[in-house]
Amino acid sequence: MADCLFCKIIDGQIPTVKKVHDDALCIGFLDINPQAPTHILFVPKRHIATLNDCTTEDRELMGHLIFAAAKVAREKGVGETGYRTVMNCNRDAGQTVFHIHLHLLAGRPLTWPPG
Ligand code: 5GP
Ligand code: ZN
Repeated sequence: MADCLFCKIIDGQIPTVKKVHDDALCIGFLDINPQAPTHILFVPKRHIATLNDCTTEDRELMGHLIFAAAKVAREKGVGETGYRTVMNCNRDAGQTVFHIHLHLLAGRPLTWPPG
């Protein structure tokens, strides 16, 4: 999608991005404004604006994002200490980029409930 920041990152138009994962379905890269020592975004290569726009055809893709995050978490050495995966949807959850992405947060104790 032409005006989408994450589509541009996927297309390689923003070379400063620090990619940590790349496969046929998604990429993972460091968040520009990290909220924890490890903060990585997993983004499907196909543009989907919000979780509301996912269909049953995206089941495998959504599972794939979670497995990619868990794999990278283990590689980064936070599998045992723990981590959080979260996907924000629309205003009340604070979604700011309208191309779905799974946050992987780790490296410090994360409070619950979230703010
Ligand atoms: P949301 O608030 O939509 O769930 O998450 C969007 C995330 O994208 C935020 O954590 C924000 O810091 C991150 N972000 C926004 N613009 C950029 C960018 O240009 N590069 C990277 N690496 N992350 C970005
Ligand atoms: Zn997009």
